[in-house]
Amino acid sequence: MATAFVSKKPLKADGADPAVTPLSAASDTSFAKKPKLAAGKARKKNIPEGLWAKCPQCATMIYDKELDENLKVCAHCGHHFPIGARERINALVETCSFEEMDATMTSVDMLQFTGIASYTDKLASYQNATGLKDAVVTGIGRIGPHRVALGVMDFGFLGGSMGTVVGEKLTRLIEAATDKGLGLIIVSSSGGARMYEGMFSLMQMAKTSAALAYHARNRLPYISALTHPTTAGVMASYATLGDLIIAEPGAMIGFAGPRVIKDTTQSELPAGFQTAEFLQDRGLIDAVVPRREMKERVVYYLEFLLERQRQNALLA
Ligand SMILES: [Zn+2]
Repeated sequence: MATAFVSKKPLKADGADPAVTPLSAASDTSFAKKPKLAAGKARKKNIPEGLWAKCPQCATMIYDKELDENLKVCAHCGHHFPIGARERINALVETCSFEEMDATMTSVDMLQFTGIASYTDKLASYQNATGLKDAVVTGIGRIGPHRVALGVMDFGFLGGSMGTVVGEKLTRLIEAATDKGLGLIIVSSSGGARMYEGMFSLMQMAKTSAALAYHARNRLPYISALTHPTTAGVMASYATLGDLIIAEPGAMIGFAGPRVIKDTTQSELPAGFQTAEFLQDRGLIDAVVPRREMKERVVYYLEFLLERQRQNALLA
């Protein structure tokens, strides 16, 4: 493509050459096919919006209902679309078994942060758009035969950023799991610490990590599930502290973004850098688990980890 453009420009410059005209006409005929597509698009405008989604990986148009039934995974190529926290919880827990914790906890604009919009306005608009109070939903529910403490982040709420509410809700969840002797599952999806809350956001890294240390001391299992994307402060705290770390296929996972790393190291990054599969090959991630198999695999892993806990208890 790039070479075609490069060769086209000088050709156009000496446009008097008759050989040039047929060439551009040829490219025009290839473009001529496009209006047909555009006409198709125009027709689609009559269909109410939001009924179809285009897969960014294979470009297939997928009926929204079909996408929902398939847990937002493209049936043609397996691309995992983003999924909301509540949809994911529904896909993981047994019906009506989930009791949400701290459902009304909301952030306070401690720093009186104002940018293009004030932090208070931003929070309000995301709360209206997502129906969530903040970027994580926590609670206790049943997955298969196991009662577990479950926290699910939602990237749709301010990029799944970790502020005081995310940190506090997860810490309370981890502490509840420790008190009740439950396994813990946190599904992460985050762009990192929330800049609107400055240092208060960064402190959540230490707080959640400390709570996890108490949970681990009681030999209770913690499965961390990483979804696209899990980065920065979340990746540098609870997301990588699991007994098992699993990830969805193709998820981007890392601390700093690839562009920053490329600029800093001044070197080419290997193919597939910072994907779940790349990190599994290098041992950071234990398993890449497709969304549709997530529940079944989590039950299997919990059984394995709880068995180890039982064995340890017998030996102690
Ligand atoms: Zn696809």
